[in-house]
Amino acid sequence: MVEVESKHAAPLAECAHCGHMLPQGLGEIGCEVCTAINKVSHQPTTDALNDETVPCPHCNMILVAGTEERPVDLTCGGCAGVFTLTPKVVKVEIACPGCERNLRIRPRPGQRELKCPACEAAFNVTF
Ligand SMILES: [Zn+2]
Ligand SMILES: [Zn+2]
Ligand SMILES: [Zn+2]
Repeated sequence: MVEVESKHAAPLAECAHCGHMLPQGLGEIGCEVCTAINKVSHQPTTDALNDETVPCPHCNMILVAGTEERPVDLTCGGCAGVFTLTPKVVKVEIACPGCERNLRIRPRPGQRELKCPACEAAFNVTF
């Protein structure tokens, strides 16, 4: 299956109950830290996902997603090729406390340890 990454993602949201970051997504999102269910909505992102245009990876014809669901399987009207439009991977920049170099990481809820590839300092981040 061919995959194409979506260009849009909702801003990262916080759990209303414990303040930790929620897993990325829209709709009813369960907090991974305290298990509370949060309703996450962001109309501009929903609109952008619905209206998102993506070139067919098989024939380059421009298709409109037509849904805010990600991942979603799309079938090209031009070549009947099938592909999956996947959620955009959100990354955040964290400054290393040792050398202040910016590290781009994929945030996950809760605490994790990072190691700076430049100065090898280890430090904890919490989302
Ligand atoms: Zn929570
Ligand atoms: Zn096509
Ligand atoms: Zn560093």
